[in-house]
Amino acid sequence: MGYNERNPIFSFRLGEYRHGKLLRLSKLNKMPANDFLRNIVDQYLAGDLIPKAKDDLAVEMTKLKLLKIKAEIEYLQLKNKYMENFGAPMSASATRILKPQLTAAQQTTQITMSPYDAKNNIIQCVECSQLFRWENKDEFLKQKYEFELHMTNNHNRALSYLEKSVLDDLRFSGASI
Ligand SMILES: [Zn+2]
Repeated sequence: MGYNERNPIFSFRLGEYRHGKLLRLSKLNKMPANDFLRNIVDQYLAGDLIPKAKDDLAVEMTKLKLLKIKAEIEYLQLKNKYMENFGAPMSASATRILKPQLTAAQQTTQITMSPYDAKNNIIQCVECSQLFRWENKDEFLKQKYEFELHMTNNHNRALSYLEKSVLDDLRFSGASI
């Protein structure tokens, strides 16, 4: 194989706009336009340049990645606690069983438990059992708001669909018991 086959020349045309932009950018980077272009291709082939995702999708992906990292941290903490309490690592079978249940259990709690206790006419946090009571309508409205704040500040999350609809439907019906 000759030098030319091993080191082929690529050539293509750029329209006026892209050509102008390329010249400006290469000047900014203090490189001849040709080297600047080749540098971009080199970076792309090395995996250092990633195609730009659609903005919404990129944000959504970041959120999902964060959720995944949080779940993994919780799982690791659980494993460490087990180690501290029992002085031995969790068995492989326990690990297999726990890992999927951890997130499933958390989600089920948040999705299926209503924060309103109709018997006592109070709101109770489904995660830490903190109570929100009121004597009159002003306090009632304030406590609904406090509950939402509590979720953000103490549990780092927005209200679940159920919590939000329960709170939206909840009307003042007297003082808490
Ligand atoms: Zn709470």
